[in-house]
Amino acid sequence: MVDGAAPARREPVVLASANPKKADEIRWVLGDRMDLVPRPSEDEVPEVVEDQDTFLGNARLKAAALVAATGLAALADDSGLEVDALDGAPGVWSARYAGEHATDADNVAKLLAALADRPDPVARRARFRSVVVLQRPDGSELVADGTVEGHIATAARGDSGFGYDPVFVPDDGDGRTFAEMDPADKHAISHRGRSLEALLAQLSAA
Ligand code: IMP
Repeated sequence: MVDGAAPARREPVVLASANPKKADEIRWVLGDRMDLVPRPSEDEVPEVVEDQDTFLGNARLKAAALVAATGLAALADDSGLEVDALDGAPGVWSARYAGEHATDADNVAKLLAALADRPDPVARRARFRSVVVLQRPDGSELVADGTVEGHIATAARGDSGFGYDPVFVPDDGDGRTFAEMDPADKHAISHRGRSLEALLAQLSAA
């Protein structure tokens, strides 16, 4: 726990993510272990400008905006892909790697092009990181993070998940990309599965 008292386990917690696929994943991992409240509509919550240069900074911004808008505790995830050969890019810029309004397909295409001259998996080392923040109206907060190591495939494979899933092959898997896995297989080893389990462990210990 970073600061102040831990939230009561069954306290309603508003989900700060505006990305529907990410929000689905968070709900899937948490199941009934947290009393999640849907994010209010766009006109009720001002747009959060993610201008911090760390996942923690951006997660805090998102959580704080939802606490301010709802008066409830809020849970935010900020996450992204770090590629060693690209000096950690796209990192906090993962959602906007190919431009402000880039689609997942645009981002994947840009990533594959950036690594085109490095076919060896060792030269394509990468990891996903997720930082989750649970903030309460009294200013107290819990922070947890999760990482999954892997490499970038040479071509997209699979239709599940979102973002860079079609090109991410986790070390702890069996050679499938995340987009070739069902949610149970992905989140048993995913950055988001790990960060949320760590957060729940902190809540249980409080
Ligand atoms: P955020 O909403 O700023 O945290 O954006 C995170 C971005 O990182 C997403 O839009 C994806 O591009 C990427 N990302 C994060 N987690 C995952 C994942 O589990 N699979 C694939 N891409 C992810």
